[in-house]
Formats: sequence, structure tokens, C-alpha cells
Amino acid sequence: MTEIKIPVLDLKPQYEQIKDEVQAAINRVLESGRFIMGPDVKLFEQEVAEYLGIKHAIGVNSGTDALVIGLRALGIGEGDEVITTPFSFFATAESISNVGAKPVFADIDPRSFNIDPKEIKAKITSRTKAIMPVHLYGQPAAMAQIIEIAQEYGLKVIEDCAQSFGARYWGTCSSCDGHCQESTRESLRGKFTGTIGDVGAYSFFPSKNLGAYGDGGMVVTNDDQVAEMARMLRVHGAKKKYHNEVLGYNSRLDTLQAAILRVKLPYLEQWNEGRRQVAKTYNELLADVEGIIAPELADGHVFHQYTIRVLDGKRDQVKEYLGEQGIGCMVYYPVPQDQLPVYKGKYPSTPTSDLLGTEVLSLPIWPEIEKFNIESVVKILKQVLAPES
Ligand SMILES: *Cc1c(COP(=O)(O)O)cnc(C)c1O
Repeated sequence: MTEIKIPVLDLKPQYEQIKDEVQAAINRVLESGRFIMGPDVKLFEQEVAEYLGIKHAIGVNSGTDALVIGLRALGIGEGDEVITTPFSFFATAESISNVGAKPVFADIDPRSFNIDPKEIKAKITSRTKAIMPVHLYGQPAAMAQIIEIAQEYGLKVIEDCAQSFGARYWGTCSSCDGHCQESTRESLRGKFTGTIGDVGAYSFFPSKNLGAYGDGGMVVTNDDQVAEMARMLRVHGAKKKYHNEVLGYNSRLDTLQAAILRVKLPYLEQWNEGRRQVAKTYNELLADVEGIIAPELADGHVFHQYTIRVLDGKRDQVKEYLGEQGIGCMVYYPVPQDQLPVYKGKYPSTPTSDLLGTEVLSLPIWPEIEKFNIESVVKILKQVLAPES
């Protein structure tokens, strides 16, 4: 085994920074003996709602559950279609299938890796009930156009924000190409992803921008009825204990995780800014490197991943070389959702998504990564991409 010199993600520097606060929070919960829906859950929900500028935030057990509960709270189920991106983690489409609806895949824009609004319209049928954009790698999707399509066709919008906690939409997405109305863009400017559609779903999986030390997730909405339903669904479909009204889930956010996340939330802006700086440094160092396309430093992007495209069929070779040199890197995601064994053969192809699945490579990024480590990654990338120079 090669020694790992630079991992793809290192959570230790962050923990060092907040260790004392986290341990105090954990001890406080342990001493209180209130582990299920303890006071920290409600306080964290209030703090998130305030930060995001949204009416309701409902803690749940995972990002996947946030999507499932969000869909069900919107009334989506059997016989319905939900248009989403093929280019995401499987939890996106899985949540749609698991509520009994059908995921329909609209191809992506190669610059943003996000769902291409132009492709959405062509997929709308009489059964379409919602659009589920994913703000992949932390980059806001083309929300103005998506909202306009949703309004035109009477569709709900549920945002998969698992990778975009803290990302704001500024109406400047390249994939939009100015097709949306100025007034729509203006009305959404500066809003956090997750607060633009009907429902936002977040994940607190440890590696996410706001990560717990275990599983966790959150549903956010401005709609009172959707919020009430989501609150019921997370506790077995009951508003009042032992008066179960609908089939729900056991999907509460752990009090311990809520207490840890309360420590972390105030640091999030600083950490996201750190990620943007890392991305900027990478982009500067990679500016004259041929054979790759570096990501856009899009407004509001919080760089959950820093993902380049490696051209000319060289991705796997580059990945292998980086691995041999002790550099962690990952392919998110090698197989688009529509091509996974669970759906294979059921969907028409989405060529851009298929192509990018062979090109994407995510490089080491975390807020505290040192500049010399970024320089090492780039040096080794250059060695493999331009061996003669
Ligand atoms: C992580 C992730 C999820 C699922 O979140 P979990 O908390 O792991 O259930 C859903 N969608 C996307 C895009 C993700 O990256």
C-alpha cells in the first residue's frame, strides 16, 4: 500500500479547532439524560431557521430521510413523476422511488454539473409533480429558470442541498444563459439554496460542509402544512403521541448530533469561505494546465467538492497516478443514477451526464488544507498530464 500523503478529506484540523466546545456540548447532553428530541434539537432547528431565513426547520435522521420526508410532506407518491438530475449520489433518485414515485432524469449542463433547465421542459408529462434539483458539489443550480418552469407547469420544487449548506443563489449561473426573467432572478438573489423551492433537504453526514459525528439531516420549508406533515412523519406519523394518523418513520435527529451541530453552525461561513479560497488557489495553479477543465468559481458556490474534468479519456490514468503518489482523489460519481443496476435499461440516455461520469475527478479539499499541499497536488497532476515538460 502506498502511504497516503494528502487525503481527499481531513476532518481532524476542524475537530482540533472546536474540540473543547464539542466535548462540553456532548457532556451537557450526557448529563441531561435527554437523548431523544432533547432541547438541543429544537434550539438547533431554531438556529438553522434563523441562519437560512426560513420559517420551519425540522431535524431528521439523515439527508436521505430529509428527501423522503420532504417528498411525502409535499404529497408526492404512487403514480407521480419527479424530474431530477442523473448526475448525483443515488440517495436523490432512491428517495423518489422509495415514496412510490418515478424519477425522470433530465440531462445536466457540463459547466455546472447541475440539471440543465432546458432539458427539464422536455421531460414534463401529465404525471409530473415536482422537480428535484441537486446543488452538486456545493454549486447552486439554475434556480430562477427552474422556479419559472415550476410556476408555468404547477410543479413543486424540492432542493437536494446535501452538498450545499450555506450556498447562496446570486442569479449568475452560467447554465442559465439569461433565459430567465430579470425579475425572477432579482427576487431570488442572495437566498440560500434550500429556501428557494417548496422544500429544502440537508444532510449532516460527517463529510458534508456542516457535518455531524454520525448521521443527521434536516427538512426546511416556509409552508406551515408541509412543516406539520414533516414533523409528524419523523415520529411515526403522529402529532400527538400514540395517536398515529399516517404511516411515518422513526427519523429523529439525535440530540447528541444536534448539540454538536450547534457548536459547528457559527463557524460554517468561515469554513465555506476557506473552501472557496482553496478552490481559487487550485484554479490559479491549474490555469495553464492543458487537458483538464477546472470548475467555475461560481457565485455562492461552497465547494463541498473541488471537481475537475480530465479530458481525452485520461481520467482513470490520472486517478491511478495520483493514488500511487499518495494523493487522495475520488470520482463523484462514476455511474450516473439512471445507469445504476437498479434502473439499468429503463431510461433513455443522458449523454452529457454519461460523458462527465468518465471525466470528473474530485481533488483534496477541506477548509484548512495548507497551500503547500494544494501545490503538491497540482505538481503531481502536471507530472501525469504533461510528462514531457
Ligand atoms: C450525501 C447526499 C445525500 C444523502 O445524505 P445522507 O445524510 O447520507 O443520507 C443525498 N443527496 C446528495 C447529493 C448527497 O451528497
